Amino acid sequence: HVENGMDVRPHISVVTNFTRPTASKPALLTYNEVTTFLHEFGHALHGMLSRVTYGAMAGTSVYRDFVELPSQIMENWARQKEWLQDIATHYQTDEPIPGDMVDKIIAAGNFQSGYATVRQLSFGMNDMAWHTINEPVNKEVAQFEKEAMEPTELFPDVEGSCMSTAFGHIFDGGYAAGYYGYKWAEVLDADAFELFRQNGIFNRETANSFRKNILERGGTKDPMELYVAFRGQEPSIEPLLERSGLKE
Ligand SMILES: [Zn+2]
Repeated sequence: HVENGMDVRPHISVVTNFTRPTASKPALLTYNEVTTFLHEFGHALHGMLSRVTYGAMAGTSVYRDFVELPSQIMENWARQKEWLQDIATHYQTDEPIPGDMVDKIIAAGNFQSGYATVRQLSFGMNDMAWHTINEPVNKEVAQFEKEAMEPTELFPDVEGSCMSTAFGHIFDGGYAAGYYGYKWAEVLDADAFELFRQNGIFNRETANSFRKNILERGGTKDPMELYVAFRGQEPSIEPLLERSGLKE
């Protein structure tokens, strides 16, 4: 932010507890550790590149359902052979990671992705149902949630089960009426990354536009305005369906 006419930059650190080096091997990060690093580095960039007048509007000070876009979009690079084969080289032979291994990592990540998708949606719908009641609910909790989650039901109901009473996230975890944000962030990051896929994953112009229109702006404008400024259109669910292996 600007203070006494000076551009004040934040100090941001990414602190992790990744695999340590041993006596005989250097620190060899797992695939998950690499994607975690990319994710957190995206949050860090959101803060570092912020260019707003007031600190309270800077970086990650955005609506909760928008805050994971800058971080999650970074994870997409870890699924690109072009990028992986450049940085993921064997520590002894210097061989780049084999392409078919990358294919297997992606396929394994999409295992049961249809079920995972509707399950996540059902949580969001149950959350929203509880937080939009405007008169007393005169039915059993289990019945209430069964109706809320009905549209996504894939397997027969297990008698006596009830998840609402154990759903800490939506009652004391800060995700009240916002649980959908997890899936929504995926819609956004897949759709935003689609522009990189079209223009090239190392395309500087696209990266600069992402920086200018999203990373620099923090919470100074409505997220959808920022998004459209970068993407040229509102997000579509198609890129996420494709990335999840649910659509060709
Ligand atoms: Zn995050």
